[in-house]
Amino acid sequence: MAATMKAAVLYDVRDLRIEQVPRPQITEPDQVLVKIDAVGICGSDIHWYEQCRIGMVVVTDPLILGHESAGEVLEVGEEVVGLKPGDRVAIEPGRTCRRCEYCKSGRYNLCRDLPFLGTPPVDGAFCQYLAWPYDFLFKLPDELSLEEGAMMEPMAVGMHAVRLTGVRVGDTVVVIGAGPIGLTTLQAAKAHGATQIIVSDVVPFRLAAAQKLGATDVINAAQADVPEAVKELTNGRGVDAAFECVGLSQTISDAIKSARPGGRVQLVGVGPESVDDFPIWSVMENELTITGLFRYANAYPPAIAAAQAGIVDVKSLITHRFSLDELPEAIAWVSDHKSAVIKAVVVP
Ligand SMILES: [Zn+2]
Ligand SMILES: [Zn+2]
Repeated sequence: MAATMKAAVLYDVRDLRIEQVPRPQITEPDQVLVKIDAVGICGSDIHWYEQCRIGMVVVTDPLILGHESAGEVLEVGEEVVGLKPGDRVAIEPGRTCRRCEYCKSGRYNLCRDLPFLGTPPVDGAFCQYLAWPYDFLFKLPDELSLEEGAMMEPMAVGMHAVRLTGVRVGDTVVVIGAGPIGLTTLQAAKAHGATQIIVSDVVPFRLAAAQKLGATDVINAAQADVPEAVKELTNGRGVDAAFECVGLSQTISDAIKSARPGGRVQLVGVGPESVDDFPIWSVMENELTITGLFRYANAYPPAIAAAQAGIVDVKSLITHRFSLDELPEAIAWVSDHKSAVIKAVVVP
């Protein structure tokens, strides 16, 4: 096997280059060498591409982006259990210390030592090969393609959101924002038994996708006041759970004002550092529970099982496909046409 591989390396704002870089090798006995076959382009990849920073984290050295990936096992280290060459796997992008109180209590996404693919300083998956610990690789059943395997990452976010919020059979929910995360959250809510699922967005084709994936009602937020429309659709009651999947002051406020008294609000979208006009009185007088979310924990197995069983459909999220060589032009195009794309996938 060649000593180098092709990778898309981010040098600066809107400066992404295809280059030959050293090919990763197994350096620890628990690692697996994976040939990458599909990688989703995430909103965060676009954000890194456009600004070279997210919050306080800055790209200072050249970085390979990409964290929604799946591929084929080529080699396994001597301590690897349960995987062999030829297996197809979804790659969970965050690997944790496995020792701290959060790792040991099952909330490993709160681990303070969380290297994450495509996030400085850890190189990501817009490349051909990756060496990764076997306990963050999940074997794909025959029913699922590698593209669907890559989509387990956004599906895991939706699963985690719905589990944190505790959606139960018969619940009424609103999902604000019908991008990839809104669409996986909607499907996870449905899988957990929500019966009325309202989805809002400003882009009609995303609302159409939401309807296809199980939304019972849609609201075009460009034309209607979301909390008012939600109240109307729920006979004045509001929803049991509101999922905010955009991350703007306005949509956070809309989520809070859409919840019924005693309801839950789940923040999913990556918001600004602080918000304007936070409706604190709605939270107080309605005793709302607002929950934050950081990535996910233990969410790949249920995401894969639900996709295998056909309870969720991640394939129809994919609207565009590009090769790795096309990525510099493709990511620029996606950056300029955000509302025309649900999910673009790179097939190296
Ligand atoms: Zn992502
Ligand atoms: Zn830890």
